[in-house]
Amino acid sequence: LTSDETSGQEERILVSVRLRPLNEREIVRNDVSDWECINNSTIIFKSNMPERSMFPTAYTFDRVFGSDCLTKQVYEEGVKEIALLAVSGVNSTIFAYGQTSSGKTYTMRGITEYALADIYEYMKQHKEREFVLKFSAMEIYNEAVRDLLSTSSSPLRLLDDPERGTVVEGLIEDTLVDWNHLLELISICEDQRQIGETTLNETSSRSHQILRLTVESSARGYLGAGNSTTLTATVNFVDLAGSERASQTLAVVTRLKEGSHINRSLLTLGTVIRKLSKGRNGHIPYRDSKLTRILQNSLGGNARTAIICTLSPARSHVEQSRNTLLFASCAK
Ligand code: ADP
Ligand code: MG
Repeated sequence: LTSDETSGQEERILVSVRLRPLNEREIVRNDVSDWECINNSTIIFKSNMPERSMFPTAYTFDRVFGSDCLTKQVYEEGVKEIALLAVSGVNSTIFAYGQTSSGKTYTMRGITEYALADIYEYMKQHKEREFVLKFSAMEIYNEAVRDLLSTSSSPLRLLDDPERGTVVEGLIEDTLVDWNHLLELISICEDQRQIGETTLNETSSRSHQILRLTVESSARGYLGAGNSTTLTATVNFVDLAGSERASQTLAVVTRLKEGSHINRSLLTLGTVIRKLSKGRNGHIPYRDSKLTRILQNSLGGNARTAIICTLSPARSHVEQSRNTLLFASCAK
């Protein structure tokens, strides 16, 4: 590869790692933090543990964020440039990947709001263009897709549309009236996810949540006129199932039916990301899981991806933290 080709590929997938602070529970049980961000791009395992000497101690990514970093900074440096491409017609996906309790939901909530606020700000500053924003939301649990804007819990089917690719049949897509409407819809999604946890016996550690914003734009007066100047792009905010679900052994997977389904979407995502990071040629197995089918148009091709890998600092979580860093390294 020439250096041009290499840098072109690196830009497609931006990989960051975010370390959260030790929490109350971990402090009470005298857990300690083993990790430290020594600069903007390198995180090290700082403890001297001879029994772990076979592991690398330093890991380098596009960006690393220490436990004192705010979500705003994670957004500005790890996500913003990619999410904002939606206004120029470029699809994107923003993922939070990490074990349960590492900070995925905490991170994604903030990032989603910052990104949407910036898109609104952009619209305000570009009055020469007209925009229509559409919002939809879904959850994948056990390879079943559920609409988070609907009170119905019945699963939705995926269809192949010759023009649009994979379509989620019957998924509600609301045209946004204003900023408050958006916040209302996000809060409905959170309620639906909560209802899933209490009445459907789901656990957020096993489900994937996708919040999806579609941005249509055109020169003022031309929107929807079916002309070629209309730009359409989708940005997906994905709060993944806990990554511990991807590291179960095959024996456990076959015993636990649910576990195997979660693994399917997470494992397939891992394979797809690894293949994409090595180049876009060759077979990419999008069709092997619901998650990758739904995201296909926002992962391959010209789409851009930001992955934020969230890390618990606790020594008791060191094995899972290693797994997360391994995933992050493969995505680079
Ligand atoms: P996950 O979604 O990965 O299971 P959560 O986002 O629910 O994890 O985070 C677990 C707990 O840790 C929550 O109480 C959350 O508020 C807290 N937390 C996560 N990340 C941070 C952070 N960077 N700073 C402060 N608290 C955090
Ligand atoms: Mg969560």
